[in-house]
Amino acid sequence: MNIVLLGAPGAGKGSQAKKIVEHFGLVHISTGDIFRKNIKEQTELGKQVEAYLERGELVPDALTVQVVQDRLSQADCQKGWMLDGFPRTLGQAGILDQKQRIDLVLNLTVDFGVVEARLVSRRVCPACGLVYNTQTYAESVCVCGERLVHRADDQSETVKNRLAVYQAQTEPLIEYYEKAGCIKNIDGMGSVEDVWERTREVLGATRNFLRAMTCGC
Ligand code: AMP
Repeated sequence: MNIVLLGAPGAGKGSQAKKIVEHFGLVHISTGDIFRKNIKEQTELGKQVEAYLERGELVPDALTVQVVQDRLSQADCQKGWMLDGFPRTLGQAGILDQKQRIDLVLNLTVDFGVVEARLVSRRVCPACGLVYNTQTYAESVCVCGERLVHRADDQSETVKNRLAVYQAQTEPLIEYYEKAGCIKNIDGMGSVEDVWERTREVLGATRNFLRAMTCGC
């Protein structure tokens, strides 16, 4: 199964993505994670994209598409993948359509006021990737022992910019995939577990549908 996960920054894509790939045995491809890893390691790609991430702007399509194509061409992606944070522009979506089969697009819907608050109070563990919220977790250290960080692009001004960029460039993808008839909206409000319950229902139904389509019975 090949899945695209859509949603505004802070909609909870990362948390749901972890559960989806674990449950369905898919390869998780997060363009944001790939960029951050490259920035941390100061690779050539990292140096090229660093300023975009700092400003909360999108990395140019050509560069982003190349990164995703390279990853999707690796052998492990044969078993199915989930793209988290890609595509983010109509241009990226068009290229993805030409190269890959997409079985399902999941769109996590959330209230903008809620995501802004979620992002500003989000803390992440740079070692194990766990995500916390200062409203529900007062500690400054992860359960794995690593000190939590407030991502530079989760600072208030950058968050506002990221949400504006999302509305202008990524939101049109919802209509694009609606026309293609492959998108399912999931209410992203509530706890990670609440949202996972809804997500699992949609994914289970899609998997059964795909099986029925391909088993020939
Ligand atoms: P994320 O962790 O998905 O919120 O991504 C963090 C940042 O990485 C974004 O604000 C962009 O600067 C960059 N980025 C991630 N995915 C893409 C994409 N598909 N196209 C362009 N830029 C991206």
